[in-house]
Order: sequence, then C-alpha cells, then structure tokens
Amino acid sequence: MTILGIDLGTTNSLACYWDGDKPVLISNALGSVLTPSVVSLGEDGQILVGQIAKERLVTHPQLSAATFKRYMGSRRELHLGTLPFLPEELSSFVIRSLKQDAEAFLGKEVTEAVISVPAYFNDAQRRATKRAGELAGLKVERLINEPTAAATAYGLHGEQSETKFIVFDLGGGTFDVSIVEIFENLLEVRAVAGDNYLGGEDFTELLASLFLQHHQLNGEELNDKELAVVYKQAEQLKQNLSRGKAAEMRCVLGERELTYSLTHDKLEKEAEGLLRRLRYPVVRALQDASLRPENLDAVILVGGATRMPLIHAFVSKLFGHLPACSINPDEAVAIGAGIQAGMKARNLALKEVVLTDVCPYTLGTDIVRENAAGYKESGYFFPIIERNTVIPASRIKRLYTSHNNQKAIEVEVFQGESRLTKNNIELGRLEIPVPPGPAGREAIDIRFTYDINGILEVEVTAVSTGVKRRAVIEETPGSMPQAEIEARLAALAALKIHPRDKQENQLLLARGERLYEEALGDTREIIALWLAAFEQALDRQEERKIKPAAAVLKQRLDSLEQGYF
Ligand code: AMP
Repeated sequence: MTILGIDLGTTNSLACYWDGDKPVLISNALGSVLTPSVVSLGEDGQILVGQIAKERLVTHPQLSAATFKRYMGSRRELHLGTLPFLPEELSSFVIRSLKQDAEAFLGKEVTEAVISVPAYFNDAQRRATKRAGELAGLKVERLINEPTAAATAYGLHGEQSETKFIVFDLGGGTFDVSIVEIFENLLEVRAVAGDNYLGGEDFTELLASLFLQHHQLNGEELNDKELAVVYKQAEQLKQNLSRGKAAEMRCVLGERELTYSLTHDKLEKEAEGLLRRLRYPVVRALQDASLRPENLDAVILVGGATRMPLIHAFVSKLFGHLPACSINPDEAVAIGAGIQAGMKARNLALKEVVLTDVCPYTLGTDIVRENAAGYKESGYFFPIIERNTVIPASRIKRLYTSHNNQKAIEVEVFQGESRLTKNNIELGRLEIPVPPGPAGREAIDIRFTYDINGILEVEVTAVSTGVKRRAVIEETPGSMPQAEIEARLAALAALKIHPRDKQENQLLLARGERLYEEALGDTREIIALWLAAFEQALDRQEERKIKPAAAVLKQRLDSLEQGYF
C-alpha cells in the first residue's frame, strides 16, 4: 500500500512517497514537482489546478482563487465565478490533482495520505486540512507539523547523531519556527512558535504598495485585473531581487506602461516592520526551549520565501551563523511528509527513527478567582496542557465548586496564552452535575488528552459520585457538521478536474492569454496571431501537428518573457 506524503503549501503543493528505500517526489503532468496551490474554474465548468490556474489569476481573477490556506478552518467563502467554496474545498481540488498525478506516476490507486500543516495551526485548521484530504478521496489519519517534517528530512540526511537546530520556515502565507533536537535517532521538537499571517506574500504586498505609492496610485481604484498584474510583477521583482542587488518591475495599466526599480538595501529598509515580526516567534521559541541562539548547531531554512537574501542576512545576524543550505527549501517538508508516510506504512528501513512532537499552544479551562475586594470573578484562564508539552499528552487537574449549593460545574475549553479567557479561543464546553453543598466541598477532575494529530479529548469526573462526562472537541469554530460534509462531498464529486493529458496545451494558451493582456500595441497583435495559429492546430486534432506547433509557441512565449523579443 502506498501512502502519499503531501505538503499542502500556501503557494505550492507537493507529493512524495517512500519507495522502500528513500523518499521520491512526484512530478505533475507538466513535469514539475511543485504544483501551485491555485484553483480556477474553466469555461467548460471543469476545475483547473496548478500552473494553468496560476496563469488565469491574471486573465480570469474572478474565476480563480489562491492563498486560500490562510483561511483554512474558517467559514469564509471564496468564489470561483458565482460558485462559493470553503478553503478546505479549494484545497481538496489541489489534493485531488496531486492524487491523480501520483496515481499516473505509480500506476495504481492511492487511497491514503499524510498531510503537513503549519505547527501553529489550531484545532479547526487541522480538522479542515484533514477534511480537505477526505474530500479529495483520501484517508488522512496522520497530520504532520511542517517544521517537524522538514526536520525529519534534515535528520535523516544529517551526519551528526546529536544536534540542536532551529527550523525557520517562511512560506507564502505562514511563518513557523521550531527548535528541534536529535539525539541518537530520536528526533524531538523542543519548542514551536509562529505567525499564521506572515509569509512571502507580505513581502510581495509590500513591493506592490511601494510601486503604487511611487506612481501615486490608489489600489482601490484599480480593477481586479490591474491589481493582479501589479501583484504578478511585484512577485517577479521580489524573485529578481533574490538574484541581484537591484531589479525593476514593469506594469501595463490601461494605456500606460509604468516601471519601478528597487535596490536590495532599500528593500531591507522598507521591510523593517516585517523583519521585526519575524523576530518575535524566534525569541519566544528560544525562551520556551530555555536556549540561547549560540546553543544551536544549525539554522535550517524552509519555505520559498527564505530564498530572499534579505532573510539570509536577517538569520545570520540573529543567530550569529549562516543557515545550513543542504535541503532544498521548497522540497524539505514534502520529503519529510513522504518519510512519515513510509513510517506509517511500517516501512522497516525507518524503524529506528522515533518522532516526538509538541502541542503548539496552551489548552485549559475557565476558572473563578477572588479579586482584591473579595468578590468572585470568572474569566480567568487555567492551563491544563501547557504549550510545548510533548504530545501525545494527558494531564489531569482538580477544580472545586466556587459557589454554595452549586448543582453543576460547566467546563469551558480554551486554547491560547492569555491570562483572561476572553482573549483565548473557545473550543467547546461541557457540563457535569455535582451534589449541592458548600462552596469548595465538591471537586471535579478534568483530564485533557491531546493526540499527535492535534485533536483534544476532554474527560471530566465528579470526584464524590464518579459521574463522568466526555467530549472530543468536534464543533470547533469554523468546522462543518457531518451532514453538511456529506452533502458537499457529493457536490464536489460532480466537479471534474481537468484531465492531466491536455494540461500542457492548456497551459500554453493560458500563458499566452496572460502575456497578451500584459502587452500593448504591436506585441499584442503578434501574440494574438501566435495564439490563433496554435488554436487552429488544436482544432484540427492532428497529434502530429499539435506537438511542433506547441514547441514553436512555447519558444516564442519564452523569448517574449525573457525580454528577447
Ligand atoms: P512556499 O509556500 O514555501 O511555496 O513559499 C512560497 C513563497 O516563496 C512565495 O511567497 C514566493 O513568492 C516565495 N519565493 C519563491 N521563490 C522565491 C525567490 N526566488 N525569491 C523570493 N521569494 C521566493
């Protein structure tokens, strides 16, 4: 049985499997191991996923969606045209596409996956990820924290048997740091911290706003297509700045062609605020692990955004040594997930690697305290499982009635770090009856059990009567009732993902359409002629003629994009 390891990224997703000996990344229909996490609704009502959908972000922004991982676990609806989708449903299309690629690659059906999630994902976000896999027709029994996956990849490839390091994972939309220790093949995550709303896209956004500011443009006055052009060019500028000390972006907006150039030094200055935000989780993780930067043997960079020299410089300054670059930052998480998938299928080659993990946030309940004036006040957080506890974990705490003749105790379950429960996230509640009596006589034992998938079970026992109440926190904020899941599953099954074998030609057309929209004047006319010639070849349906026509068009579009035209 093959289990897929899936890195479901904000920007790109990858699939990997264990071939009995080593992790192998799976290429998609276009020959790339990176499938952009972008979804678009085609003219024929089929769902397009990956590079083609990414091209259509510019030409058909209303029919396309990207970076939906940021909203995972929420009920926020994103639209492809008039059709509304939840983030997990859009993610399920990406997973379905990876599944199809894997099945074509392996020549057999794949029914199970291990999916990676940011270590900082809360319960609702983890459940939504699991559901995305299930909506794609895969059994998902195991989720793995992204930094843990990256560390697994590093741990297996590293030479040292005893080492402490930090995984610094800056993806498209999320930032995670984990402090990991490897000791004699035991890999232990000592601390995690992060920011769910910080990633490479924020740097793109910064560049887009600098461009708009420079030209005294207001983003709100631009239409969706124009904004998409600005973002695409800002993204290109960011990537070009990773290769040189200065770069320029160029946008055609209406009849005007606007340019903006930026040096590396200026970017460093402008990005000060974002860099400050990167520092905070690093400091917190170090404190939680009781370590100082100099105690770490290495810094592992993961996530596409760590390709920015700005980030290398920042990391070197912060830790006093250069990051280790032995793992491809785009592939490490998928490789780790593939290794985990192999472990899950009980592959003997990996039996001595033991993995421990930590709970990324504190879980607790609400209690009543007496204030300075002697009044009882509720709303105080009482931690039961502290953040960075190694999981699976089970902890019991005893609490007493706070009022005379109390007939029941309500146990509210929260996650977060604030002293006041109103600032934390409520995950659920349950009530247990107790015999009435004076305050403080009756007690309850609250047991929290947190498993390796980040799922919490709460069991409360009334001490004097032995009555028990149990809850698996199911209805977390943003989650979907079972009946609704089934209805959505049926609706989604009816939507077809565009067939793999036609993707290359579709991609060429989508790319040509985008370049047409980005160009002006004569260039536009020429692109239109190229596309018409290719469409004619496609219409004739003669395989013999389509291939060379595609090669010619590809070469033309390549030279156009590289500026040789
Ligand atoms: P990930 O979610 O790990 O795929 O990371 C995607 C992020 O990495 C996006 O914000 C990309 O813009 C960014 N990225 C990818 N390649 C580069 C590069 N060469 N220079 C700067 N940022 C990059």
